[in-house]
Amino acid sequence: MNLNSPITQGGRIFKMYAGRLEKLNITTFQDFLLHLPSRYEDYSIISKISKIQPGETVTIQGQVIDMKTNYIRGGRIKTMQKATVVDHTGSIELTWFNQPFLTRTILPNSTISASGRVGRFGKKISLQSPEYEIFYNNQTNTIHTGRLIPVYPETQGISSKWLRRQIYNLLQNNQAELLEYLPHMILQENHFMNLTEAINEIHFPKNLETANKARTRLAFDEFFLMQLAAQKRRYEWKKETKVIPYETEKFKKEIDTAIASLPFALTKAQKKAIEEILQDLTKDKPMNRLLQGDVGSGKTVVAAIAMYVAHLNGYQSVLMAPTEILAQQHYKSIEKFLSPLAVKVNLLTGSKKLSVISSEVKRNREISFKNDAENLDILIGTHAVLSDKVIFKNLGLVIIDEQQRFGVQQRGLIKQKGKNPHLLTMTATPIPRTVALTMYGDLDLSYLNEMPTGRKKVKTWIVPPEKRDAAYEWIGKQIMETNSQAFIVCPFIEPSETMQTIKAVKQEYERLQKDVYKDLKLGLLHGKLKAKEKDEVLQEFREKKFAILVATPVVEVGIDVPNATIILIEASERFGLAQLHQLRGRVGRGDKQSYCLLFTDNKNALNSQRLKGMETLYSGAELAELDLKLRGPGNLYGTAQHGIPQLKVASFSDTELIHQAKEDAMKIFPHLSKYPLLEKKIAEITLQTVSPD
Ligand code: ADP
Ligand code: MG
Repeated sequence: MNLNSPITQGGRIFKMYAGRLEKLNITTFQDFLLHLPSRYEDYSIISKISKIQPGETVTIQGQVIDMKTNYIRGGRIKTMQKATVVDHTGSIELTWFNQPFLTRTILPNSTISASGRVGRFGKKISLQSPEYEIFYNNQTNTIHTGRLIPVYPETQGISSKWLRRQIYNLLQNNQAELLEYLPHMILQENHFMNLTEAINEIHFPKNLETANKARTRLAFDEFFLMQLAAQKRRYEWKKETKVIPYETEKFKKEIDTAIASLPFALTKAQKKAIEEILQDLTKDKPMNRLLQGDVGSGKTVVAAIAMYVAHLNGYQSVLMAPTEILAQQHYKSIEKFLSPLAVKVNLLTGSKKLSVISSEVKRNREISFKNDAENLDILIGTHAVLSDKVIFKNLGLVIIDEQQRFGVQQRGLIKQKGKNPHLLTMTATPIPRTVALTMYGDLDLSYLNEMPTGRKKVKTWIVPPEKRDAAYEWIGKQIMETNSQAFIVCPFIEPSETMQTIKAVKQEYERLQKDVYKDLKLGLLHGKLKAKEKDEVLQEFREKKFAILVATPVVEVGIDVPNATIILIEASERFGLAQLHQLRGRVGRGDKQSYCLLFTDNKNALNSQRLKGMETLYSGAELAELDLKLRGPGNLYGTAQHGIPQLKVASFSDTELIHQAKEDAMKIFPHLSKYPLLEKKIAEITLQTVSPD
C-alpha cells in the first residue's frame, strides 16, 4: 500500500468508511494528506496542574488515579465520566458527558495528556470535555493535545480526531513518498518550504507562522499547476495544423464600408477588440480568443464583423447562442447588418425540426438543410447547430456566445465541424481578472471595458416590503409619462424553471394585471413557452403592444428592447450579483434614464452588502469582485459547473500569488520536459479539469 493506493485497499475500516470519505473527496491515501485543516486549535501551552486558571485553554499531562462513570437521573445527560489526574504539583478533574466507553480507554495508572478550557465547578477547577490522548509505551509525541491541533472539514461519522490520526500515521509511514515536484529554482527564489515540510507543517505546525508558510507554498502549487496546464493547452492549440491566414488588408475597404453602414460609431474598446481579432485571423494558427464585455457593451457587432471578414475570405461562420431568444435576436441584428452586403445569414433553432429561417427562404418552412448549410455564409443558432445533419462546406470561424453556458464537450463538437476553425468565445459574465488569469491562462483575452456613449447608469434601489405599493404606483406613472416599458422578473423556484415556477409567474402576472395595473396591458414570458410563442411575445413587446413584460429569468441573457427602461426584480436576494447585473442590463439600452428596482421581503437582505453593492456599483467586473469577496468563487455563477476551478488551499483573492505563479509558470513551461514529476502532476490536473460536464 502506498499513497496512491485507493483507500479501499487499506483494510476493513477504510472499506467501511469509503462512502463517507468520498464526500470529503478522499479516495486515495494521498487525498488524506491533501485534506487540509480549516483551522487550528491552540493547545500548545502545557501547564502544571497547580498553575492553571479558569478560562484558560491549556494542556495538562499526568497520571490517571481514578476513572468512574456516574449515573444521572432525568434530563438529556444520562452519565458523566470523571477522571482524576495528578502531576507532581496537584490534581484536577476531567469530565465528559454520555461517553461511558471512555472508562475502557482511560484506565487508572495510565499517563494522559488532556487539552481544553479550564472551567470552575463550584470551588473545584476542572477540564470539561477535553481532547485527550493516552501515552502508550515510551511515546512522547502528542497528536490531539499539547500543540496546535488541526481541525478538519468533517462529515457525518468522520471526526477531525479520526482524520488527524490517519494523517499522522501516513506522515509517520509514507512520508518518503512525497516527492518534490517544484523545480528547485522556484523553491529557492520564492523561499518556499519543500513539499514534505509543507505537508507536515500544514497538518502539524510548529506555530501559526510555519502553518501559514506551508499554506502559501501549497496555494502557490495550486495556481502554478493550473497555469502550467493552461500553458500546455495553449501550446497544444497553437501547434495544431497550420491554417491559411486570412487577408484583411486586401478587404480594408469592404470592412470599413460595413462599419460605416452601422447606425452608430464603434466604441474605442470595440475597435481594439476587432483589431485584435483581425490580427489573430491573419496568423497561420487558429485563433482562440475570449471576448469579455459587460452586458450591453456591444459584443454582437464585434462578432458580426469577424464573421464578415471570414466571409470575405471565402469561409463560413457559425454563431452558437445558449437560448432561442438570443439566437433569434442575433439573427435579426446580424441579418440586418450583413445581408445588404450580400452575406447569406441563416437561423437554426430547435434540434428536431432543423427548420431554417433564412433571408431568402420563408420563415419556418422546412427545407433540405444540407443544401442550405452548404450555401449559407453565416449560420446562427442554438445548440441545434451541433446536429450531425449540419454539414458545412468550409467552416472557418466558430463563435460561441455566453460560452460559460456550454460544456467543454459542446465547445469541442462545434469546432470539429471545420478544419481547425478560428474560435471566438464571448461572455458577459464578469470574471474577476484573477480568476480569468487562472482559468483562462490559455486564451487570448479581449475586453470591452467601455459602454457605447450616451448610456446612462441604471439607477438602482432596494425596495423594502412597505414600499412595494408605492413602487408599483411609481412604475405605472413612469410608464405613462415617458411612454416606456418595464420588465417584472420573478425568480426561479430552484433549481430551474419547473412547472411550479411557471405557475407562480402566471399567478403573479394575473395578480398584477387584475389588481395593480388595470389600465396597462401586460405580457407573460417563461421558458416553457414554445420558441414561436416566445418570439411572438418579444416581438409584441418590442412593438409596444403591451407595457409590462412579466417574466422568469429567461430574460437574463441578451434580450434587447431599448424602449424598456424599468426592471423590477422580485426576491432579488435569491440571485447572485452577476445574475442581477445581467438582469439589470436588460434596461438602459436606449438613451432614456433607466431604473432597476430590487424587491425583497427578506429583512436581512435589506442590509446585505450584496444588494447594497448593486446600488453603488455599475460595472460587472466590480460586482464580480464583490461577490468573490463576499461569497467565494464557488458561488460566482451559482454553481461550480461552469469550469471555475474549485480551489483547495488557495483563494482567488490572492492576487499577488496568482501573478507570481503565472510568471513562474511562463518561465518553467519551455523547460517542462526537464521536470518529469511536474509534467506528471500537470497531466493529472488536466484530467480533472476536463470534466465539468
Ligand atoms: P452585449 O455585449 O451585451 O452582447 P449587444 O451586442 O447586444 O451587447 O449590444 C447591445 C446594444 O447596443 C445593441 O442594441 C447594439 O446594437 C448596440 N450597440 C452596440 N455597439 C454600439 C455602439 N458602439 N454605439 C451604440 N450602440 C451600440
Ligand atoms: Mg450578447
